[in-house]
Amino acid sequence: MPFTPIHLGPGIFIKALLQGSFSLMVFAWAQIIMDIQPLIVMISGTGHLHGFSHTYIGATLLALFSALSGRSLSLFGLKIMGLANKHTQITWLVAFTSAFIGTYSHVILDAIMHSDVEPYFPITLNNHFLGLISIEQLHQWCFYSGLIGVIIYYAVQYFLQKKYKKC
Ligand SMILES: [Zn+2]
Repeated sequence: MPFTPIHLGPGIFIKALLQGSFSLMVFAWAQIIMDIQPLIVMISGTGHLHGFSHTYIGATLLALFSALSGRSLSLFGLKIMGLANKHTQITWLVAFTSAFIGTYSHVILDAIMHSDVEPYFPITLNNHFLGLISIEQLHQWCFYSGLIGVIIYYAVQYFLQKKYKKC
């Protein structure tokens, strides 16, 4: 399903763990890029819904594209939202790490939900992720990982600020 926010839950959780070494903006951008193909298929009514974009080869190419296009776009977005200061930066390493985590996790989550996802194309068309957990469990897992992520993120930020003030 194009542009489902469930992918963002695990992204927020990873952001909480990696803090400044992970860009949630680039990650979110990668989610949008990943679902452009299914969106076109849905609108046009022709083609393979989760086709090449939802394979590991497709996800690799889209991660490269998401990192290259998403880095400056994310910095721009942070500036517009007033979340950037003069120290805000997204290194290329962070951009690529976030984009690859974004597209690869996207393939796994969609592969659990959708029978037409073929992650290992062209080696095999099997999808061993399918039905690994129920869709309801998957949605709950994504939701709670995001919720726990928000709590951890702000807890870490709070303690860092406290420590910074003491110095
Ligand atoms: Zn998708």
